[in-house]
Amino acid sequence: MTRDPRYDILFEPVQIGPVTARNRFYQVPHCNGMGHRYPRAIAESRRVKAEGGWGVISTEECEIHPTSDVSPYVEARIWDDSDVRALALSVDAIHAHGSLAAIELVHNAHHSGNRYSRLPVMGVSDMVVGSYDPNQAYAMSRRDIAAVRRMHVDAARRAMDAGFDIIYCYAGHDLTVAQHFISRRHNQRTDEYGGSLENRVRFLRELIEDTREAVGDRCAVAVRFAVDELMGEAGITAEAEGREVVEMLADLPDLWDVNVSDWSHDSLTARFGDEGSQVPYIEFVKQITGKPVVGVGRFTSPDTMVSLVKRGVLDMIGAARPSIADPWLPRKIEEGRPEEIRECIGCNICVSSDMVIHPLRCTQNPTTAEEYRRGWHPERIRARHAEENVLIVGAGPSGLEAALSLGRRGYGVTVADAASEAGGRVRRESRLPGLATWQRVADYRMGRIEALDNVDIYLESPLDAGQVLEYARELDVSVVAIATGARWRNDGIGRQHWAPIPSDGSVSVLTPDDLMDGKLPEGNVLIYDDDHYYLGGVLAERLCMAGCNVTLVTPAADVSHWTHNTLEQDHIERRLYGLGVRMLPKHEIQSLDGGAAALRHLGSDAITRADCDHCVMVTSRTPVNELYHALDAIPGELAAAGIRRVVRVGDCLAPSTIAAAVYEGHRFAEEYELEEDIHRIPFTRENILI
Ligand code: ADP
Ligand code: SF4
Repeated sequence: MTRDPRYDILFEPVQIGPVTARNRFYQVPHCNGMGHRYPRAIAESRRVKAEGGWGVISTEECEIHPTSDVSPYVEARIWDDSDVRALALSVDAIHAHGSLAAIELVHNAHHSGNRYSRLPVMGVSDMVVGSYDPNQAYAMSRRDIAAVRRMHVDAARRAMDAGFDIIYCYAGHDLTVAQHFISRRHNQRTDEYGGSLENRVRFLRELIEDTREAVGDRCAVAVRFAVDELMGEAGITAEAEGREVVEMLADLPDLWDVNVSDWSHDSLTARFGDEGSQVPYIEFVKQITGKPVVGVGRFTSPDTMVSLVKRGVLDMIGAARPSIADPWLPRKIEEGRPEEIRECIGCNICVSSDMVIHPLRCTQNPTTAEEYRRGWHPERIRARHAEENVLIVGAGPSGLEAALSLGRRGYGVTVADAASEAGGRVRRESRLPGLATWQRVADYRMGRIEALDNVDIYLESPLDAGQVLEYARELDVSVVAIATGARWRNDGIGRQHWAPIPSDGSVSVLTPDDLMDGKLPEGNVLIYDDDHYYLGGVLAERLCMAGCNVTLVTPAADVSHWTHNTLEQDHIERRLYGLGVRMLPKHEIQSLDGGAAALRHLGSDAITRADCDHCVMVTSRTPVNELYHALDAIPGELAAAGIRRVVRVGDCLAPSTIAAAVYEGHRFAEEYELEEDIHRIPFTRENILI
């Protein structure tokens, strides 16, 4: 296939100071939960992106010194030469495919906890640390400022030794000392680094000049700067100080990587913003500087990318999440197959990996962070071991991913689903407010399956054990995968309750499945959220829109508590307040009786009653595994039908996130030949001995 000439502009080289990017695709720095702990894993992840055509590939933030130690979070480190060797693995992998390697050096100042190094925490001023740790940062003296500049220079030299092409001076996300200096909120200094904006920018200017002097014309010097903190006059705004900073430094760096702050605004989820939501804030930058400008906005559409370049908004298309969801996005455009792009759905499961401290996960791309330890690749998969046919029951995320991946391996695959449309839970949930992009999980897979002639999908085909045996005989099936998902419970059992919540039947109890099946209640509705992820809050929105009077009760300290990890909690709470939802955190339901819920406050034990006509239980799910157990009970008949193995995949085994269901579907396909042996270690461990 040849590339559409409309997209040629995206493949023009871009000069960045002394180095040249081969095209306009720029993977901006992003956290990955591997950092200094799993250097081989992150190097292989980056190799796949370079192979996939990203012109520039950046590290995540890279601590320059033990006084900027953000452990337990696992970021990159360049404290000494041992880190140089580890980072060089990434550089070499990136260079192997002709891409440029960028490193985002950082001193996090009062945002560092120094929990590992136990060194005193520095700050621009005397202030509390960024975490809830009960300690404070001390205001840097002039000597300390000179020391941090020196650390940055040393780190830049080491980065050059590791082979990096672009060195960042990072002033974004409200996380870095350079931004803290600029911020009126943080900078209360009275010396030449405080007061006027000119003074507050001094440190960043010095950082850029020092870095340039350190790396000469070997590397480019980039600045990452948050032009707007989205907090009005209390912070930096694109109309005022953000613009003035860019004007003051205009052509000093070799590249501007601009965004909005903090991270929850920069990595806005699809529920709260569309593709390109940052453009109104950053578009002024190119009018001021002659240097290349890169910006992000969850860009997955090549037409949008072309328009941004042509309209003079961006020179390079920045991407973190779209590059995780599809490491081969540029190459698919280049090779004339943009319809094969695995589009990011904007769910921030990737972000949660950093927050809860494990290697990267992605809803759309199950191979991410598995390139090294499991040898998985987003675009290549081993051929089948033998001519064999597989029956998959259930076309949700796990069933579809298993079907696609087994199909790509060359197995004969038949999928049967009871519903009239494929997609399982993503089809149902994508019709709820703000979740339309969830449908991409099914659409991408259905699109790719259509191109395979060895995968057949039968809809409106509910199967029982007898029908599975019949299919198996008819289609010569060796393995049956049960991917029948899970249903929400209606008895209240979950984290808080181990026994059903007592009820006299005066309040009608509904589940999220009832609502998604179209059973919309009226009147006073109480949502009991003991799940703590997105669904309770989304259903509150949905019911408000339907005119219900909604009370959201949760045992957690705040609503949709787990979404702190996806950077959404604050957005969700604001939206629910805006809609008039009454929120009662730290409460459990003791009973439903007399047309009301008896609620116990978990701190005081005080009991209050909330009148309600309906109660929606968002507590936990029960696997739909009857079919599995029915088959498991008849081994003789399975053998007689030629079935070697029956497995459960995804929510049908253990209900979890959509990302987990996709991952499990993929793992089943990759490990199809391996019998389930939980005693083996199923991947290459990465033990670091320096
Ligand atoms: P997962 O997230 O694990 O992929 P889902 O709940 O999204 O699970 O999808 C399960 C799918 O399985 C649904 O589309 C449902 O219609 C289908 N399903 C459940 N039981 C049967 C059955 N006995 N026969 C055919 N399809 C079934
Ligand atoms: Fe996009 Fe979600 Fe994957 Fe992150 S986890 S890259 S937001 S699809």
